[in-house]
Amino acid sequence: PLPILAVVGRPNVGKSTLVNRIIGRREAVVEDKPGVTRDRVSYEATWNGRRFKLVDTGGWELDVLGIDAMVAAQAELGIESADAVLFVVDATVGATDTDEALIKLIRRAGKPTVLCANKVDGQSTEAEAAYLWSLGLGEPYPVSALHGRGSGDLLDAVMAAL
Ligand code: GDP
Ligand code: MG
Repeated sequence: PLPILAVVGRPNVGKSTLVNRIIGRREAVVEDKPGVTRDRVSYEATWNGRRFKLVDTGGWELDVLGIDAMVAAQAELGIESADAVLFVVDATVGATDTDEALIKLIRRAGKPTVLCANKVDGQSTEAEAAYLWSLGLGEPYPVSALHGRGSGDLLDAVMAAL
């Protein structure tokens, strides 16, 4: 079986955009408003000749729950079955209480984790992402899922974790 990477993060941080970037196709549904997306959950990807499975934890529909409970439940499901976690934050917003709650879940699961500081579209914002070291998840990888910036370095780190 292929190694599994769970993509975890709050709604609207750019998980689906990042999934599309990594798989090189537009299969994940990108939504302008935060909320429930109707993405497929599982995708196959290849990097440097190695195949792996990507699980978009925002892809489940659990909207009977409140938004925070929903995010947590989705993340928990995804993390449980994953070999490694790609945790995505919106670097233009910073870490919110929901992010902190998700980090607790990830810590409890004890899976290798790579931190993606998304929406770093330009050089000027790259240095700003450095404050995310404070999350305690190691090096924040500045990425623009929208434009592709930084995604190679991110994937190298992901493959080292998988
Ligand atoms: P998800 O809810 O985490 O899956 O987030 P989406 O992938 O649906 O993206 C939410 C919004 O953020 C959309 O409007 C995207 O176009 C936007 N977005 C995603 N990645 C980036 C990025 O790298 N830069 C910018 N500026 N916007 C982004
Ligand atoms: Mg999504």
